[in-house]
Amino acid sequence: MRDPTSFLGEEYRELVRQDLDWKLRVLGGPSTPWCMVDGKKVLMFCSNNYLGLSNHPKLKSAALEAVKNYGAGSGSVRPIAGNMDLHMELERRLAKFKGAEASLVYQTGYAANSGLIPQLAGKGDLVVSDELNHGSIIDGVRLSLAERRVYKHGDADDLSRVLDEAEGSSTAFRRILIITDGVFSMDGDIAPLDRVAALGAEHGAMVYVDDAHGEGVLGEGGRGIVSHFRLPRDRVHVEMGTFSKAFGVVGGHISGSQDLVNFAYNKSRTWLLSGSHPPAVAAACLAAVDVLESEPEHVRRLWENTQYFKKAMVDLGFDIGKSETPITPVMVGESAKAKQLSSRLFEAGVFALPIVYPMVAQGRARIRTIMNAALTKEDLDFAIGAFETAGKELRVVPRAAS
Ligand SMILES: *Cc1c(COP(=O)(O)O)cnc(C)c1O
Repeated sequence: MRDPTSFLGEEYRELVRQDLDWKLRVLGGPSTPWCMVDGKKVLMFCSNNYLGLSNHPKLKSAALEAVKNYGAGSGSVRPIAGNMDLHMELERRLAKFKGAEASLVYQTGYAANSGLIPQLAGKGDLVVSDELNHGSIIDGVRLSLAERRVYKHGDADDLSRVLDEAEGSSTAFRRILIITDGVFSMDGDIAPLDRVAALGAEHGAMVYVDDAHGEGVLGEGGRGIVSHFRLPRDRVHVEMGTFSKAFGVVGGHISGSQDLVNFAYNKSRTWLLSGSHPPAVAAACLAAVDVLESEPEHVRRLWENTQYFKKAMVDLGFDIGKSETPITPVMVGESAKAKQLSSRLFEAGVFALPIVYPMVAQGRARIRTIMNAALTKEDLDFAIGAFETAGKELRVVPRAAS
């Protein structure tokens, strides 16, 4: 008899053969600018911990206090017995920070997208999605019974065409939901949310933005993409985000009207059916909102570092794509070369992962760097020096720089 699990090993070995399997690096301590990765002291250049908050003393002590006063776990899902005052306070503080009527916190950003999208759009509805939207949006749309159409990446004219076509089609859609990432994580470009929101208003569609990489980064004091474009709140109906990136902890959230939040917590299956955050997580997230409000220097330093690094890399002849944010891709081309460059950088003491096919198109392999506010000028010069040496050796940039 054939082993019914034989495909597990076969498929895994095929991934290994193609060098497409994930090779886990192991952090032997906190995610700080200089950290221990696989036993080697390296400069962290690829975490989502943009502001260095994951190791901020205020977040750590808030988490410790919460363990002392509330214990290690919450005891239940939130709608039954796992809703602590810490969770409620976090939602109030987040809504205030965002300038929204209300906010709702999910276990993760993935849980927010996969739990809410299928409830916003169902049978007879249409979801219109940017072609490069995050996988958690794609999964949320897959769980929905709505029809799905994709518009060209970042292209508001193409979105307009899709919306016109939908209006002209024989079967009228009950509702239309437009969804886009705020900042796209592979290229670091920003969605044209001003135009997307205007098109939404014109067509009577809901607008949903996933601002996972924009929060703590864009807008006034890191308030995100809606603030960045100074959009009126009622133009963007769902502002979704995460506590796992710039906020330095873990957790997803949505902000918008009170009606949205009431609807979402009664309908999102991920929120209803999965345990709530341990008190330490809720307290650390609260402290993160507090730090963003009271210590604006982190966001400022993030942007200073970003500009310094981008300029130096362009001066050295590197192609950094069309990034407008602290995500700076260093374009290499072939997958094998990107992997080589990443290994050389690691040997030199800089931890930055290659992003290769199938995560990006063939021939568009890159090293994706993510800037951090806690890096010093010396750290940045160290990293730039490592890129210069390895980049010249591998002929990613000309050997004799002009
Ligand atoms: C990281 C990310 C998510 C998932 O957030 P988690 O809180 O880590 O689950 C969702 N959307 C985008 C665009 C992301 O970058």
